[in-house]
Amino acid sequence: MANVLEIRNLTKTFGGLTAVDNFSMDITDCQIHALIGPNGSGKTTTINMISGVLTADSGTINYQGKDIRTMTTDEIAKLGIVRTFQNIKLFPSLSVLENAMVGGHVFTGVNMFQSLFNFRKRAREERELRERACAALKYVGCYELRDENVSNLPYGKQKMLELARAMMASPKLLLLDEPAAGLNPTERMELVSMLEKIFDDGVKLFLVEHNMDVVMNLCHQITVLSFGKKIAEGSPKETQEHPEVIKAYLGDRYKKV
Ligand code: ADP
Ligand code: MG
Repeated sequence: MANVLEIRNLTKTFGGLTAVDNFSMDITDCQIHALIGPNGSGKTTTINMISGVLTADSGTINYQGKDIRTMTTDEIAKLGIVRTFQNIKLFPSLSVLENAMVGGHVFTGVNMFQSLFNFRKRAREERELRERACAALKYVGCYELRDENVSNLPYGKQKMLELARAMMASPKLLLLDEPAAGLNPTERMELVSMLEKIFDDGVKLFLVEHNMDVVMNLCHQITVLSFGKKIAEGSPKETQEHPEVIKAYLGDRYKKV
């Protein structure tokens, strides 16, 4: 078991509020890792710091032998760290296929909007991008929907499309912020199967998630945050039985059957 990512003493403050407080964690290469904790405990801030959306005030984030703490989102994405957002960020006026194609922008050297508006000039690149997007849509089971407008898709399919778009960037480590939020039980099961497939295909997974069935069924290692501090870490069983975790977060949320 090797470490994919090593976070040491990461701290982020907003004004007087310490959102993430001296936080350390390893993501290993053979575990699906979840970050859980109450609302406002610093989970999204942690994903934002790993993906370069926010720069941590102090600490280190080591990935492939480099400290990526001060790198930009584009630099980090090029190293293979790709993230999805807590609220879906698709382009509602574009088709399913076009949305998937946008995910390939990281390799084109131009930004997302330029890549949308320069398509005609770059027919060959577009064809290749289209082929890759079709393959990504097949991978997540959305190929038949490729010409639909995104706003016509059920929420579960929009989430799958978001995964297809993330896969277009050829991630090595995928960061998912509450992927199961808003999904019904059937869609949640589909999501778990899809994430298992992605992990089996060699992509490392780190997710923030509130749905305990998803966390307990999918993840091998769980880190628990409360008020920006790590209060526990371990297997699903260890975490579930940890008194401080039950007190700070789980309560009645997840009872063993
Ligand atoms: P979680 O994802 O665990 O619900 P967040 O990481 O979103 O929590 O937020 C942690 C804390 O930091 C919260 O108190 C939140 O209000 C605050 N926070 C997050 N982002 C910002 C920001 N950009 N500016 C000011 N405060 C923020
Ligand atoms: Mg959040």
